[in-house]
Parts: sequence; structure tokens; C-alpha cells
Amino acid sequence: MTGTANVPLADIYDRLYTAYGAQHWWPGDSAFEITAGAILTQSAAWANVERALANLNAAGALSPEGIAEISVRELAELIRPSGYYNTKARKLKAFVRIVDECAGGDLERLLALPTAELRALLLATYGIGPETADSILLYAAGRPVFVIDAYTRRTFSRLGLAPEMDSYDGWQSLFSESLPPDAETFNEYHALIVRHGKQVCRKRPLCHACPLSAICPTGVAAAVA
Ligand code: SF4
Repeated sequence: MTGTANVPLADIYDRLYTAYGAQHWWPGDSAFEITAGAILTQSAAWANVERALANLNAAGALSPEGIAEISVRELAELIRPSGYYNTKARKLKAFVRIVDECAGGDLERLLALPTAELRALLLATYGIGPETADSILLYAAGRPVFVIDAYTRRTFSRLGLAPEMDSYDGWQSLFSESLPPDAETFNEYHALIVRHGKQVCRKRPLCHACPLSAICPTGVAAAVA
């Protein structure tokens, strides 16, 4: 993104990309696997989500039809490694019902709906909030929709860039109004923020090892303390 006028968000992207390189998100072989992963990853470590997805795959249930055919109890058992498995089983069931009702069971058809329509549909589905809906839009449907999560809020608050409206939409506008709407860039940027939040800008930030320390008020303050 070097060369765009959208500094500092573009500048931050460049610094993160230079530090960490491409993150190759989203891990998933199909749109359904990505979507199921987006639901299962709520309050779960990705390694546990992968175990749940592997169970679904081994049981032949990693598809809308596969989920529809098994009982909610069987489904809960298969996704147990991801935690909150009874609730998540109901969420997956609710999602495949939407695929069935709105697209005749064809996920690709559902994902081809206009972005605003698809987002509204996802948000009206049990268990799908803005972060999950936008992960599906970005990573499964390839739409230029920025995903906001706790890592984003934490790092960008420390950078002094929190929006006036501390709401999901307020945070999303911060990015979507400052960056060109490009799904590939949004994909990489979100992945880089997560990497940075896990590795450096942790609960206790490692400012001395941070690629953003020169432009971060928190990092500058830590250096002179
Ligand atoms: S300098 Fe510190 S607070 Fe700022 S982004 Fe880096 S790790 Fe986070």
C-alpha cells in the first residue's frame, strides 16, 4: 500500500507487512469451511477450531447438506473441541437453514448476493454478530468489508486512533473511510493486526520490540518512562 495518500492507516499497514510478511488468511479449503470456521472461532483458539473442522470433515458433515442431515446433538459432539459446542451447533444449524431458505441450499448462490443484502441476512441469523458476518463477507465471499475485533480496538486505541464513536460501526468506518475498498488488502490487514496483537501488542504490550513504536504514543511514552 505504499504510495497511497491514506496515511497513517496505510503507513501502519506497510510497517506491519514489512515486519510480519503475508499471513495467508483465511485457512480453509472451501467457502463453507471458512464460514463454519468463522462461527466456530468465536471465543476459541484456532487450533481447537481446526480440530472441530477436522471432525466435521471426517464425518462427511463439512457442507450445508452435511450439517443439515445430522442431529444437533451429533453436531455438538463433533465440534466439541471448539468450546460452547451446544450453542455453536445451533448456530451452524441456523446458518445452513438460511442457506437452504434463501439460496436453495447453494452456499455460492447465497454468497453472491449483494453485499448489503448478504450482510443484513447474516446479521439476522442466530449467533452471527458483526465480526462473524464481516469475516464471512471478507474471507468467504471476497467482499471489501473490514473486520473489527478486539485486537484491532486494542492496538489502534493505543496508537491514539480510536474513533469518536466507540462502536463496531464507528471502528469499521475508521478503516473503510480511510482505505481504498480492496478485499485483498482488507484480508491481509486484518490478519496482520491479529498477528501483531497476539505477538507484540499484547495485553502487556512489548513496545520495545514493536514495528510501530516510532509512531505510537503509547510506545513513545513507554520508551521515555
Ligand atoms: S508501541 Fe506498544 S502499544 Fe504501540 S502498537 Fe506497539 S506494542 Fe502496541
